[in-house]
Amino acid sequence: MTEKLTPARVRFAPSPTGFLHLGGLRTALFDWLYARHTGGQFILRIEDTDQKRYNPDSVEFLMRGLRWLGLDWDEGPDIGGPYAPYVQSERKPIYRQYAEQLVASGHAYKCYTPVEEWEEASPEEAEAEPVAGSRKPYDRRDRFVPAEQQAALEAQGRPYAIRFAAPLDGTTTVDDLLRGEITWKNNTLVDAVLLKTDGMPTYHLAMVVDDYLMKITHVLRGEEWLPSSPIHKLLFDAFGWPMPQMVHLPVILNPNGKGKMSKRKQVVDGKEYLALVHEFIEAGYLPEAVFNFLTNVGWNFDAEREVFTKEEAIARFELRDITPKPAALPYAKLEWLNGVYIRNLSPNELHLRLTPVLSKQLGIDEETLRHSEQLSELAPLIQERIKLLTEAAQFVDWAFVPAEAIQPEPKLLIDKKLNVEQTLAVLTAGIEVLMQTETFNVKTLEVAFRTQAEKMGIKVGPFLTSFRVAITGKTISPPLFESMVVLGRDETILRLRNAMKILQAYALQTV
Ligand code: GLU
Repeated sequence: MTEKLTPARVRFAPSPTGFLHLGGLRTALFDWLYARHTGGQFILRIEDTDQKRYNPDSVEFLMRGLRWLGLDWDEGPDIGGPYAPYVQSERKPIYRQYAEQLVASGHAYKCYTPVEEWEEASPEEAEAEPVAGSRKPYDRRDRFVPAEQQAALEAQGRPYAIRFAAPLDGTTTVDDLLRGEITWKNNTLVDAVLLKTDGMPTYHLAMVVDDYLMKITHVLRGEEWLPSSPIHKLLFDAFGWPMPQMVHLPVILNPNGKGKMSKRKQVVDGKEYLALVHEFIEAGYLPEAVFNFLTNVGWNFDAEREVFTKEEAIARFELRDITPKPAALPYAKLEWLNGVYIRNLSPNELHLRLTPVLSKQLGIDEETLRHSEQLSELAPLIQERIKLLTEAAQFVDWAFVPAEAIQPEPKLLIDKKLNVEQTLAVLTAGIEVLMQTETFNVKTLEVAFRTQAEKMGIKVGPFLTSFRVAITGKTISPPLFESMVVLGRDETILRLRNAMKILQAYALQTV
């Protein structure tokens, strides 16, 4: 049965107060999936009305995070759109006009008592808390001021805030798509500030006005906003506007399953759990893996299938399948998925993805690495071995340093089954082989080295140890003959000679 879909208008409305964390990114992802699923629009709106918490860099970080994950927006601060501007601080006159409209209709009132006296909560609480909570609820002293006193105050031209006149009795019901109808007693609500004395709207007013003006059909936001929703419903009602369909997404829990996920990275039992989007980028995660992973946090593509494409997720994504139950992030799965996606990249693509990461780690400029033949040969050799892009450096760094930089411990050069003299003999023979091999490729090198090992009566494994360490400085490396080919004949021989010098010095010391 194919259902005809109404194109949805869905917004991601972050407050630019800091870095984007995974919870925010998950909200944006679900917004985007639903917009794309219905053939509608995904809108980016910046909710910067809390100037005290404003962080100027964070808009750039937000956009970078969304772009990295491939969440393209159809309307937003940088590209505009039919309902521009998309930054709330640039829409101040609009909010004043609507706040005054509510005063005129009796749904709001002017408040001359300084707001600060009543709103001493932490910024987070102040933003999230329209309901009686930890702070002293405002006692509505300005709401019932007699008319003459009101007129006198106005005549003085005193600055004022505008507060919502919440109904004093009765109930308010909000319909949440995942949780059904939720009812609040109105006598538990406070008279929320709508417009501050400085003319800046609060989140409540700005959100309601913008969701209406921007024709938002579905509001997806974190569960922590649920307590604000009766105020929002009352505001929509007061304006005579329909409320968009509310969808409060389940909170994401800390790795130990307790409490809302922290907005900072955490260390639990010695393991690091990242929280911010740029940390995941820096740690070497692929956007495909994070996309796949986050899509399955609170929603499930298919119990049988762990790996899927964006297009497949878009086709299947239904809001009603989101579970309202909070869940912790399965970090181990993300790492596994990342390995899967790394293995699925074409070698060329892996080369490209590794370029910026290695550039930072190895201190080589990106341009050089992008055109590096060595990297293009190495990329497929390490593809099976890494789960994070940042793990590549330890396997390839040796290829990008001069021979003198490879200074292995002499003991590492000597295989457990051999002594110094034998190792020196092996290396001498190896250099000879390398000089004589006509075609310098993996196949011929392999045959030549095996033959040489046999001739000397040494098993291949121990025979090759010193070569591996001599050219990479490590006991674990990409496949040996491939590595020799990456370096080329001259450089390989140079490294083997250096290793011999190290061994000779060591032999002298130990006699
Ligand atoms: N500006 C709010 C935030 O930072 C958005 C809440 C909403 O989506 O309505 O999370």
